[in-house]
Amino acid sequence: MINLDNKVALITGSSDGIGKAAAVLFSSLGAKVAIVGRDQTKLDQVAAECEAKSPHNYKPVVIKADFTRDEDVVRTFEETISAYKHLDILVNNAGLGGTKDIRDPDYIHDYDRVQQVNVRSVVRLTELSIPHLVKSKGLIVNVSSVVAVKPSEKFWYYSMSKAALDMFTKTMALKLAPHVRVNSVNPGPVRTRFLSPLVPDTNTVYEDMDKRQPLGRVGDPNEIANVIAFLSSEASSNMTGSIVFSDSGYLLAE
Ligand code: NDP
Repeated sequence: MINLDNKVALITGSSDGIGKAAAVLFSSLGAKVAIVGRDQTKLDQVAAECEAKSPHNYKPVVIKADFTRDEDVVRTFEETISAYKHLDILVNNAGLGGTKDIRDPDYIHDYDRVQQVNVRSVVRLTELSIPHLVKSKGLIVNVSSVVAVKPSEKFWYYSMSKAALDMFTKTMALKLAPHVRVNSVNPGPVRTRFLSPLVPDTNTVYEDMDKRQPLGRVGDPNEIANVIAFLSSEASSNMTGSIVFSDSGYLLAE
């Protein structure tokens, strides 16, 4: 059911975690991918993995970019189109968290950084992709979070960014129908490096979170990549504007 053979996909935040899992999965399904992140070493490793998994030995287009910078967002798009001259799938996955207290004198800088990467870069990439996706009858998958619908006091501005992203998914789904489908996967906690800049001991945090999930464990990046691939394929052809939770049952728990 999931056929991505020869589809061209730009997957942001693909040097690590969920985006990396998606890039490798898409490559194994025959897609041509553009991968993006700030860390060149990690990007090169992901590119090698993608090429090894590709049934056509496709080498990904590798783009080093920092999405807090508007010019890097635009360059990411331009390098993808310049290499492939075509776009079928845009996966807006790059994202970061933030936990500064509103009483912290510095919080507004971190707030701006989170909104820039989690919302503004998605809006810009969508804007630039529209003509290409209309032409290819393509689609967009946004990677949001359960905290878009269940507020997190600690991650308050991260929650805000993902709530904004969900409304962007729905409004763009309306605007771009029937030409381009736009959907979202909203993960619960997933074991990646996402929390590393925010908490000192991520292992203990994940062990604690494992116990609190109805499924008894947090998610794995490959489980989220599977949903991204489903939403990127004809298997989800009747879906647009959908917010799909993949969350170990997180939203069922208190
Ligand atoms: P990771 O930290 O493992 O990966 C994040 C990716 O985003 C990396 O490739 C990173 O690139 C990239 N990225 C971060 N900041 C920037 C930036 N300024 N410019 C360009 N790229 C950037 O996190 P996850 O894989 O867990 O997160 C992926 C998505 O999933 C995010 O949108 C996140 O909000 C969402 N999510 C994650 C959850 C979790 O528990 N892990 C839960 C719910 C949602 P690099 O390292 O090269 O800088």
